[in-house]
Amino acid sequence: MHEIQEILRNIRHIYCYVVSHCHTHPDSTEPKDNQKSMAKYKLEYIWLDGYQPVPNIRAKTLVKDFDKEPTLEQLPNWGFDGSSTQQAEGHSSDCVLKPVAKFHDASRKNGVIVLCEVLLADLKPHPTNARATILDDPETWFGFEQEYFLYKDGLPLGFPKEGFPKEGQGKYYCGVGYSHMGSIAREIVEKHLDLCLDAGINHEGINAEVAKGQWEFQIFGKGSKRAADEMCVARFILNRLCESYGVDVNYHCKPLGATDWNGSGMHANFSTKFLREVGGKEYFEALMAAFDKYKVEHIAVYGPDNHLRLTGHHETQSIHKFSFGIADRGASIRVPNSMPKNAWKGYLEDRRPNSQGDPYQIASRILETIATVPLPK
Ligand code: ADP
Ligand code: MN
Ligand code: MN
Ligand code: MN
Repeated sequence: MHEIQEILRNIRHIYCYVVSHCHTHPDSTEPKDNQKSMAKYKLEYIWLDGYQPVPNIRAKTLVKDFDKEPTLEQLPNWGFDGSSTQQAEGHSSDCVLKPVAKFHDASRKNGVIVLCEVLLADLKPHPTNARATILDDPETWFGFEQEYFLYKDGLPLGFPKEGFPKEGQGKYYCGVGYSHMGSIAREIVEKHLDLCLDAGINHEGINAEVAKGQWEFQIFGKGSKRAADEMCVARFILNRLCESYGVDVNYHCKPLGATDWNGSGMHANFSTKFLREVGGKEYFEALMAAFDKYKVEHIAVYGPDNHLRLTGHHETQSIHKFSFGIADRGASIRVPNSMPKNAWKGYLEDRRPNSQGDPYQIASRILETIATVPLPK
């Protein structure tokens, strides 16, 4: 009797072994090599258009089969009608989209955001394509603080139809509670944060800002291209997310004009390898002298209408002056407290770039000025 049971057990073992190693068994769920399961991926190609002085982000979807989320190398060039984006004349309207970075798009099933440079038909960079020509150095790190207003029906979120909120500024910065923050804004900024993190963007934080309806998020990247790419994609994700709330993102640097309401900046924090690892007071002072010397060139790429914002009030320095100061939020460049404490090593905060600024040109200008200062021997 035992012998028969033993034989039956052995037969069962052999059967299980054969089944688990046989791809052709009808119960097998493993795909055959020649039958990889393909899925339809929604590739959102995004690019900056030709509007001046502030380009808009444009986007269109390409649906394509892949067996898993495609790599950048697998994404083809695509095209668009440049005559509808101020990038071409109607009689010769084809512009080329060249993928330069890809991000997971958690808002869509099988979604990918494909950041593109715009090329001319002969594959040379389009004149509106700043990214193709900027300076880059992966050893220089940038942290951008993007401030913006959420707008509904032409007014900052939470503003009354006429006039201004009675209480004025004071309680909104890092504020909490319905009467200060309303009910929609936080849902938007939280969703934005999650979408950015899911996309692999180096999103570093959020805070409510000084004016009602005003918020900020921070992006950090190593190299001007990486940091600016992530800023563009983070802006795109925010703009698209706000559509479903009937809300617009207003990036203007002084949307409430010459009132007692703050404007919006995009402070550019930066550190070179030398500043992080060697530093020194002498080098720091030489660097600040160069920033002073090129102040006009910096302001030229720090975003439009900046004279409305850089007034010397509301935590800004006048657009006509250059200054730096330790922990000074009224200076052009704020030197974090940690820097003098740490033998003048660390990072600096250029507070002048504004919320509509082009992060590629801002970072590139900072690199250009740094390059004029020789490193101590
Ligand atoms: P604040 O509002 O006080 O000016 P935030 O916390 O909003 O400061 O922003 C600080 C920024 O500085 C962040 O974007 C961060 O990534 C950036 N940052 C921190 N350390 C460095 C560094 N070593 N190099 C470049 N950027 C940095
Ligand atoms: Mn900040
Ligand atoms: Mn801020
Ligand atoms: Mn700042």
